[in-house]
Amino acid sequence: MKAVVSLNSGSSSIKFSLFALDPQGQLMLSATGKIDKIGIAPSVRARTVDGTTLLEREWPDGTSLSHADLLTELFAWAADHPLKDREIIAIGHRVVHGRAEFAAPRLVDAALIGKLEDLCPLAPLHQPHNLAAIRAIAQLRPELPQVACFDTAFHHDKPVIASRFALPRALHDRGIRRYGFHGLSYEYIARRLAEIDPPLAAGRVIAAHLGNGASLCAMMAGRSIDTTMGFTALDGLMMGTRSGSLDPGVVLHLLTRMGMSAAEVEDLLYRKSGLLGVSGLSSDMRTLSGCEAPEAEEAMALFAWRAGREAGGLLSSLGGLDGIVFTAGIGENDAGIRSRICRRLEWLGLRIDECANITNATLISLPGSAVKAYIIPTDEERMIALHTLSIVREKAA
Ligand code: ADP
Repeated sequence: MKAVVSLNSGSSSIKFSLFALDPQGQLMLSATGKIDKIGIAPSVRARTVDGTTLLEREWPDGTSLSHADLLTELFAWAADHPLKDREIIAIGHRVVHGRAEFAAPRLVDAALIGKLEDLCPLAPLHQPHNLAAIRAIAQLRPELPQVACFDTAFHHDKPVIASRFALPRALHDRGIRRYGFHGLSYEYIARRLAEIDPPLAAGRVIAAHLGNGASLCAMMAGRSIDTTMGFTALDGLMMGTRSGSLDPGVVLHLLTRMGMSAAEVEDLLYRKSGLLGVSGLSSDMRTLSGCEAPEAEEAMALFAWRAGREAGGLLSSLGGLDGIVFTAGIGENDAGIRSRICRRLEWLGLRIDECANITNATLISLPGSAVKAYIIPTDEERMIALHTLSIVREKAA
């Protein structure tokens, strides 16, 4: 049976999914897995869709295996595992930044890798690791087509005004623009919402992707018209370790008055701010919500306040709101944060059903609420597999 693999490679983890092609040519999830704690104490786990463990392996603390080493291990195991009858025909990758040039998924070749390499400074937490996985597979299985699926692509057609900074025009022309991210997640949400609630999907919706990285997307009839992330995935909402929007004067002050180097400021804004910086305790929402410390409470309150404020900004782009969709780790699981954000939008006529909210139901607004609220689990891996398959089919046609 033919199959497609999706890889979502981050700084310390690689999530992977294997989708088999059924006789009708549809993608069926066969197995998922994760290589975790790369560079610390690596582990790899894989299980079938019904929960049966396929692989479980851990290495001791301090084992320095790279992304490429661990993918090599995974492929060596895959050659002789219970799903080896699945013939992998292509591998799709999440690639965070594609700038304006890559408005759609692309088949990977050496020239593309070079161009994407140049974008690493724009997404230092993700892009180098996305490319590490692409390069590793090119070495391991050079005959296998690889497809790069860009997080920026879904936002490509948003109005020009939503992609402009109030900077001199020449800089916009040189690519200093608001691109937007989490596009694979939003594309999946737009598709699912069209199945779950077609009239709402045809209207004005804010999708809230709240994970370690977090952003909001204003969707009109399923298309992105504005989003909170900009040139990099640092903009907009407060995140696990990222600051989100910041007065640019703060950056200048840190550089010119406080003697920080550019690398230190980058580290501060990407890795030491957000929930971690404000709480001083953890970047993980689950940890913070189980914590008594007032700093943890303040970090969570600020997260929700910032989300409400940014949502307010998108309301102006949308000219109103018909629905909000929560997704990703926090959005799908944290009833408290959802409730806080929805309360900030109560003035719009959004009435949350706290019983539905607490049980992570799909529809969490009350009947008659002027704005509907949904929880829709995202599936970036499926979106990657769908794009990969269609590129491979195009190539074969
Ligand atoms: P990533 O951006 O790394 O894919 P995720 O979408 O997995 O991130 O989201 C991670 C965040 O989701 C963390 O802050 C984590 O605490 C939070 N999270 C995951 N599960 C739960 C849960 N059951 N309750 C509250 N928060 C959760």
